[in-house]
Amino acid sequence: MPEKLIISISGMRGIVGENLTPSIAAEYGCAFGKFLKNSHTGKEGKLSVCIGRDSRSSGQMLKSAVATGLCTVGIDVIDLGLVTTPGVGIMVRELRCSGGVIITASHNPIQYNGIKLLLGDGIAPPADKAEKIRQYFFDKHFALVDSLNHGTITSNEQTDATHIDKVLAIVDEEAIAAKKFKVVLDSINGAGGRVTKKMLAKLGCEVIAINDEPTGIFAHRPEPTAKNLTGLCKAVKEKGADIGFAQDPDADRLAIVDEAGTYIGEEYTLALAAKYIFSRETGKAATNLSTSRMLDDIAKEADSQVIRTAVGEANVAAAMLEHNCIIGGEGNGGVIDLRVGPIRDSLVGIALILQLMAETGRTVSQLAGEITSYYMVKEKFAAEQAQALQILKLAKETFADAKLDTTDGCRFDFDDGWLHLRTSNTEPVMRIIAEAENRKTTQKYIDTVLSIRRQIRS
Ligand code: MG
Repeated sequence: MPEKLIISISGMRGIVGENLTPSIAAEYGCAFGKFLKNSHTGKEGKLSVCIGRDSRSSGQMLKSAVATGLCTVGIDVIDLGLVTTPGVGIMVRELRCSGGVIITASHNPIQYNGIKLLLGDGIAPPADKAEKIRQYFFDKHFALVDSLNHGTITSNEQTDATHIDKVLAIVDEEAIAAKKFKVVLDSINGAGGRVTKKMLAKLGCEVIAINDEPTGIFAHRPEPTAKNLTGLCKAVKEKGADIGFAQDPDADRLAIVDEAGTYIGEEYTLALAAKYIFSRETGKAATNLSTSRMLDDIAKEADSQVIRTAVGEANVAAAMLEHNCIIGGEGNGGVIDLRVGPIRDSLVGIALILQLMAETGRTVSQLAGEITSYYMVKEKFAAEQAQALQILKLAKETFADAKLDTTDGCRFDFDDGWLHLRTSNTEPVMRIIAEAENRKTTQKYIDTVLSIRRQIRS
């Protein structure tokens, strides 16, 4: 059965030519435009939205369709071209647009594409607003404007330069450049290669770029996980590089390979970035409930505090703005620094980690080794809502002694680890994430949940 078109908080995702077509994309553009107009009533003149796309070959087609939809309801469109997701997030604010759109299916395989929406603050719409846009899309009452009031499309090619300037402003360019780091960059033929190579050159790095043509023909599976990055690991080792960086196709996620060619895991991306930030100042951090305890350890050492939110980049970004956090992000390699923008940004991660290496004079494996490590396991299984609720109820009884957080499913904190159970926003699936001091303890928590599930099914 073909997978259905998914419309969630983060936008729309589907398979090109199957359930994601230009006509659907245009209607989604109309729905977003209608939502923006309704939320800015009384504002004089036309609203504007900036739009960019990652390197997928269907991107140009879908971008044109969404832009057409926006113009049809009277919104002006600024076309940013082939850019990263954080790049669009920065330009929404820079150009004072009312919203932003990115044509990307992020880390999903090549047959997918998607339409990600941002509001004027550079953050994805919160749940109630996302639901409204979804309703407008299904209702199809778009209130099209006449020939004198439609929107127009202009181009802007300043995204890379603006993005690089903002990232370089948060590090010491000269201190990093003095180290002449040798860096291997794997941009998976996505949107990140061009801008990241330029930034690394400004940071005085010797860059060995692999998969850096923005063709959208992904050289390996796009998610930056260990099994997909064997080529990067090998290149780092063979070239004797100081570090290897891997981006996902829209460059909001970052994974790291150490100087020995070992993949150190996406959880370390935020941990290392936070290690640098907390080495300089005290303040709050924010991350979701499924992210490693490493961040809490690093924050604690600096007398700082971590705010935990429901899973979803928009939730973390909103908490960061509310609490004025000095660092935040997600354990999947997404680092957010509000000085650059409230959006996960691989360029921010790269710059902060190079700065940490430059300041300490230590290798990335030494720096990672200074952080207490944990063992994390992620599992998922099919569960309809009724079944999921029953599992959560039984889990609460089973882990009655643990500290419980029900912001997003159930997160149980134990002395030796934690367990997070939640249902997916996009599919009838329950996710289990457990982390503890060792493999045995982590597996014990996972196995307990799996046995609760068996009890319910029998
Ligand atoms: Mg992504």
